[in-house]
Amino acid sequence: MKVILADYSGFCFGVENAINTTLKEIDNKDENKVVSSLGPLIHNDQVVKELKDKGVNVINNIDDAIEGSIIIRSHGVPKNIYEKAKNNKLEIIDATCPFVRRIQNIVKSHEERGYNIVIIGNPSHPEVIGINGWCNNKAIIIEDEEDIKKIPKTDKLCVVVQTTMSLAHYEKISNKLDSLANEVVKFNTICSATKERQSSAKNLAEKVDVMIVIGGFHSSNTQKLVEICKSVKPNATFHIETLKDLPLNELSKYKTVGITAGASTPQWIIDEIMEKLKSI
Ligand code: SF4
Repeated sequence: MKVILADYSGFCFGVENAINTTLKEIDNKDENKVVSSLGPLIHNDQVVKELKDKGVNVINNIDDAIEGSIIIRSHGVPKNIYEKAKNNKLEIIDATCPFVRRIQNIVKSHEERGYNIVIIGNPSHPEVIGINGWCNNKAIIIEDEEDIKKIPKTDKLCVVVQTTMSLAHYEKISNKLDSLANEVVKFNTICSATKERQSSAKNLAEKVDVMIVIGGFHSSNTQKLVEICKSVKPNATFHIETLKDLPLNELSKYKTVGITAGASTPQWIIDEIMEKLKSI
């Protein structure tokens, strides 16, 4: 079987930065210091387990951290979490991805200048919840075209988009927002790592017989890669998390397989799966 890896896949800059920042904190801490991350550091159970073994606690509520340092992951958090951490005398280790930080700054400054904020994204995703927390939780969050009716007639609208959204989805929705206010400012805040991964996955899907997308079943950017591959290969796209999910029987009928991986997938998982496929 011929196996081809997409030009861009796996760990993105923001995830790599979050892991390196965490490892540095672990290496430099003294024995008794408690290090916690607010939520699992990345959407990959294997990596989260490895970090846990090295001493990183995962907590889901800032009030559960009573001492030591708290790591803010690449998705970012609402503004009030920084205030709570300070009040609780926690040391903040901030791994918010610069692409996410930029969106937080955009919504903050536009909300202060009287714009109504629209976030195109998944309302329950931590990145979107975090961004909303930088504009006083006043954003109107829209996920699909149906939700456009939630936007009231207004004077000024500022539109941003979750970093991992597909470009086609963003364009479809944002093009329909122009008539909703006297002034509409739109920021395409899809991050460059997402763009590269999505376009190289699409290009590869067009060349191969079958696509394997590796990444967490709950990872937003991985799910977008699956959607994109399925748009090219509706009946020949498989989403797996690790080697054990590989559908070997079904794959045996194909000659060329393309591989892509979400931004939270470590290289060793990709390598392991590629080796297995090459041996078929
Ligand atoms: S997917 Fe993009 S925004 Fe999210 S962490 Fe990676 S580089 Fe940053």
